[in-house]
Amino acid sequence: MKPTNPQEYIRPAVRAMAGYTPGRQPAPGARVIKLNTNENPYPPSPAVAAAFRRLADDTAAFRLYPNPESRRLRETAATVFGLENPDMVIAANGSDELLRLLLDAVTDPGDTVGWCSPSYSLYPVLCGIRGVTGRGFPFDWRNPERLPDGLDQVKIFFLTSPNAPFGTGFSNRFVAALAEHFAGILVVDEAYADFADESALDLLADHPNIVVTRSFSKSYALAALRLGLGFAAPELIRELDKVRDSYNLDLAAQTAAVAALADREYLSVTVGRIQAERARFTAALTERGFDVCPSQTNFVFARPPAGIAAAALYADLETRGILVRYFTDPALADGLRITIGTPEQMDAVLAAIDEFT
Ligand code: PMP
Repeated sequence: MKPTNPQEYIRPAVRAMAGYTPGRQPAPGARVIKLNTNENPYPPSPAVAAAFRRLADDTAAFRLYPNPESRRLRETAATVFGLENPDMVIAANGSDELLRLLLDAVTDPGDTVGWCSPSYSLYPVLCGIRGVTGRGFPFDWRNPERLPDGLDQVKIFFLTSPNAPFGTGFSNRFVAALAEHFAGILVVDEAYADFADESALDLLADHPNIVVTRSFSKSYALAALRLGLGFAAPELIRELDKVRDSYNLDLAAQTAAVAALADREYLSVTVGRIQAERARFTAALTERGFDVCPSQTNFVFARPPAGIAAAALYADLETRGILVRYFTDPALADGLRITIGTPEQMDAVLAAIDEFT
């Protein structure tokens, strides 16, 4: 029977889900202080602009498809991260694409996928699309390094490391123990690892069930270009390559990523600035009675002192043109996630808080 409502053509699992809600993206040019999606307050490396100028001088190159494997990007990444083999690297359209590729390559509908709860709210959405069961394992940010029980049936475990939205880091000792203990694929989602003390990249050689994902959206200030990298054993990377779009990264993205990745000096200067501002802002909030989770990322999760509702503070900041992130999830509704911006932007947040309180 032909459906009368075109929606009936869509799979029930997709019809039943809400989809992912991204943080608000105001129109370009809007006069706001945007601290709601963990973007970088500084521009990307000047090497990116120089590479784009060269691209603009040779638009005839746009006639051709880009390199399907993002070969130069993989080779640059292998060199920069000290891996002996570029076949341990895959490049993707944002690290979000990698999470989806992993689900497509590893799971069958009906399988179970796990993560620490709360963490990145895209994981359950991807599970809904794939038709796998998603399971959040309770996570206590004050005591993060506890091996979750009941992982036997889990095919993939997403460990957001450092954690989001709390910002706490995991030690490599813990990540290695989890990889040992777990029979499935441990995806270490390192979107924020450039702001942290340790990286699971150092564990790859000894743990073939670890996949590390990285993003260019935070530390490299290239969120608009949608770039991510995955690192794993070559046998896994080969399979992930089969399920991605053949030309998943366009020429502009590949070019920008190579330029940004190679400029280590610029990365360390801008990351250092953000880390210094994170320490100053954390201390300033703590002085004002906020409970701030120790962060290894470019954001902090902060609970206001007694008597101030996080939701009310969020709304007040918004009326002043300061966008931060408020989550209605009961485990998060007592705090705000605030991206670390420039010192001037964070001073504006502190001034607004002082006026509100
Ligand atoms: N993982 C986590 C934990 C994130 O917070 C984000 C950014 N929202 C991503 C992955 C996705 O990053 P990308 O922009 O590279 O897709």
